Amino acid sequence: MKAHDGIYLDGAWRPATGPDTIEVVNPVDEQVIGRVPAGTAEDVDAAVRAARAALPAWAATAPAQRAARLAALRDALAARQDEIAETVTAELGAPAKLAQAVHAALPITVAGSYAELAATYAFEEKVGNSTVHHEPIGVVGAITPWNYPLHQIVAKVAPALAAGCTVVLKPAEDTPLVAQLFAEAAHEAGVPAGVFNLVTGLGPVAGQALAEHLDVDLVSFTGSTAVGRQIGATAGAAVKKVALELGGKSANVILPSADLAKAVNVGVANVMSNSGQTCSAWTRMLVHREQYEEAVGIAATAVAKYGDRIGPVVSAKQRARVRSYIEKGVAEGARLVAGGPESPRERGYFVSPTVFADVTPDMTIAQEEIFGPVLTILSYEDEEDALRIANGTVYGLAGAVWAGDEEEAVAFARRMDTGQVDINGGRFNPLAPFGGYKQSGVGRELGTHGLAEYLQTKSLQF
Ligand code: NAP
Ligand code: MG
Repeated sequence: MKAHDGIYLDGAWRPATGPDTIEVVNPVDEQVIGRVPAGTAEDVDAAVRAARAALPAWAATAPAQRAARLAALRDALAARQDEIAETVTAELGAPAKLAQAVHAALPITVAGSYAELAATYAFEEKVGNSTVHHEPIGVVGAITPWNYPLHQIVAKVAPALAAGCTVVLKPAEDTPLVAQLFAEAAHEAGVPAGVFNLVTGLGPVAGQALAEHLDVDLVSFTGSTAVGRQIGATAGAAVKKVALELGGKSANVILPSADLAKAVNVGVANVMSNSGQTCSAWTRMLVHREQYEEAVGIAATAVAKYGDRIGPVVSAKQRARVRSYIEKGVAEGARLVAGGPESPRERGYFVSPTVFADVTPDMTIAQEEIFGPVLTILSYEDEEDALRIANGTVYGLAGAVWAGDEEEAVAFARRMDTGQVDINGGRFNPLAPFGGYKQSGVGRELGTHGLAEYLQTKSLQF
């Protein structure tokens, strides 16, 4: 794993202004695998200046030219697919198969989708006696988390570049190495100097400096609701646009007519994937009272198969957080049917795949985002009760509905206060808008909706 000891600024790797570094730790064995600069406010300022200076020329390029750079970026990422997967395995702890199939493959797909969209999007439209131009919003400050480290970078940087914006990225401190690989790919793809800049660093230092910078036009943030709220307030005070992808506590609603075994098994797999560190995970399973014990049994059997196969969580801090939630679940009276707070291994940040039954909607583990391999199973009386429970959190990011026929599931899904719902196990669609209702966020990522976030309109009347 090669770590750059500089920040990527104005088209080159340059030394950071301060002496501080961040140690990157492998969560499987707790070994330090690299060091990257802890950027300062001065580094962020230099990066924003570079992005500002590069903006006029990049914003003026023909969309086809930006599409060509994005296609080259997709190819540069594809050429590094193995290295990306190995890097995500090393710094996040993702099992090799997941790292290849999701962490490395998905960003290539998304970069490719924006190469296409840049070439085909209607950046100009006629409305009566007006011509409406969709123009880049300007300099983008992107702040990303560690759970899908490259996907979250590409889901911001690719549409920003497609729109004609320039970018300063502050990636998560726990996963900076894959961000450096991304910068290498952008460089190789011929993205002009200053159009993309990378400042590694700590959230409250480099992240905050970027969010507060007066010369940033749009802050796009993915992470916790606590930090998102702060970034939203700062941006609001400066009258700048903000996009927030925050937490979730999504419901997996299994209606009585559904294939119960399939719905429970897919639901367990959904929560255990990426060691539960997925903001859109269906962490609350809702089962009809009469099928409840059967569902709990199926879930217990399903989760036993995971045993050692899931990876660790990202850090000691995250492990402590997840374990304290498991302890809270026990203390509040939920029934532990698998897993528990004890570490399954001596070394590494592992958490046992955990399932709670007899969870009531008001319990902490049914309300707050745990971000670990922990499934809660709740029972409902009838459809209205299921809907009340499903909608009964501050979040609204994702969800699932299972029913004997699709129409029944769709009717229920239409009443859910949430941004994405998978019907009878529907597949993830990298072109569908992704984002939250309620406190799960503001704005949408992916596809045309994700591109529109980085554009503003100018109307010319004739
Ligand atoms: P976080 O603290 O919100 O971090 C997200 C990003 O924001 C990171 O790059 C972080 O830097 C940065 N940041 C932190 N404080 C900041 C500040 N004051 N100003 C500007 N940027 C700041 O989230 P986390 O620590 O990675 O995870 C905590 C919890 O957030 C998780 O347990 C989970 O509940 C939630 N989460 C949600 C998502 C999602 O996709 N919706 C993703 C990840 C986490 P550092 O890396 O240096 O902290
Ligand atoms: Mg943090």
